[in-house]
Amino acid sequence: MRRNRRAKIVATIGPATSSPEMIRKMFLAGVDVFRMNFSHGSQDDHAAVHASIRALEKEVSRPIGILQDLQGPKIRVGTIKDGKIEVQAGETVRFVPIGENGDKDAIPLPHPEIFESTAPGHRLLIDDGRLLLKVTGFDGDAIVAEVIVGGTISNRKGVNVPDAVLELSPLTDKDRADLDFGLKLGIDWLALSFVQQPSDIMEARQTVGDQAGIMAKIEKPAALDRIDDIVALCDAIMVARGDLGVEIPPEQVPGRQKELIRACRLAAKPVIVATQMLDSMASSPAPTRAEASDVATAIYDGADAVMLSQESAIGTYPVETVEMMDRIIWHTENHQAYRSIIDALEPIVDPSIHHAVSEAAADVANKIGATAIVAFTSRGTTAYRIARKRPEVPILSATTDKAIARRLTLLWGAHSVTSDHMISSYDEMVEDSRKLAIADGFAKPGDRIVVIAGVPFGTPGSTNNLRVITV
Ligand code: PEP
Repeated sequence: MRRNRRAKIVATIGPATSSPEMIRKMFLAGVDVFRMNFSHGSQDDHAAVHASIRALEKEVSRPIGILQDLQGPKIRVGTIKDGKIEVQAGETVRFVPIGENGDKDAIPLPHPEIFESTAPGHRLLIDDGRLLLKVTGFDGDAIVAEVIVGGTISNRKGVNVPDAVLELSPLTDKDRADLDFGLKLGIDWLALSFVQQPSDIMEARQTVGDQAGIMAKIEKPAALDRIDDIVALCDAIMVARGDLGVEIPPEQVPGRQKELIRACRLAAKPVIVATQMLDSMASSPAPTRAEASDVATAIYDGADAVMLSQESAIGTYPVETVEMMDRIIWHTENHQAYRSIIDALEPIVDPSIHHAVSEAAADVANKIGATAIVAFTSRGTTAYRIARKRPEVPILSATTDKAIARRLTLLWGAHSVTSDHMISSYDEMVEDSRKLAIADGFAKPGDRIVVIAGVPFGTPGSTNNLRVITV
């Protein structure tokens, strides 16, 4: 089975799609990576979804990616007297670190780190940014704040503190338990929520090691300030536009999206554009024209993948939404403007052997009319490097490591396959490339393919070899 597009589709599984039949339909409609959102559902729910995906993988003989998205240190108000209070612009309110059933003078905010890190002038956003308050000072233990945009504060509403870097571990106790659970199940990607600084990635890496790729969700201004170091340390990025659009003004999100995609392409790491892509399809069989255009923009920007959230988790039309996303991607990639835009956005990369080989592979494949570029990869690096070129010729990424094959399902243009055969020589690698290309319909006798790899095979990161084969 072969997709007819290059960018990938990530879909969040939820009550609307968690049954084995729905997972199957979603995969057939175009989902490449399934996202298990640990902000919702029990571990048992996620284990059942995981088992269904792995069973489907066997049935269709294709690697399928599983992304575990941890809830992260989401900040919420505590409980409020009578469940909610109304606050109006111009009013002064106080937040306290401990307490329950608070009123305007003692709204519980049970996150001591906020009290340590906020300063007068900082903004507090409540309920996805519907309410805006400004810190004016402190009164004993309490934060005093002026309401700028009023509304209702109800129990457990989310709070964003965009101006402070909070002394928070990126992994709460719940996240640690969920992560252990996910690693035991076998996940391919781990998404870390509310990443603020490079050390957050290092902290997660201590637990994850190389058992999964680490994806940093970019949703905090502090992360944007240190994006190059974060990209260098993680394995992929998610442009988490939901919280990002609360923490920074929404009008700045499109530009930031472009910067993040560019930073990832420069670093040869996958990037997902997420949230509200086809949002109205949660309850409507057709998207708005603006949503269709938003998906297309992410594709023109060069994103590796686009993601569905509530549309696929709790929506009424999850399969139709995937089919729609698939069609938008196909039409965008086949539009006459696509190639010139995607080529123009190619970053200038420092000279290196691996970059020169990848560049040459794309050029040679184009010039000789090759039907595929086969990227033989032990840890995925060679595949990431050729994908960065966004070549016109399809990429067949081949690895003997099943876990890497699953991880590469997220990568732009990669048709990921596992070779069961352990390769011990260069000639075997060439022979396997030929067989894999024929088996998956990438070549027929007489066609030419370009093979790139790091030789000796199995030396991670050593992309140094290019070979043209006539099948
Ligand atoms: C987001 O904020 O855009 C996002 C993807 O994260 P979550 O769905 O966990 O809020």
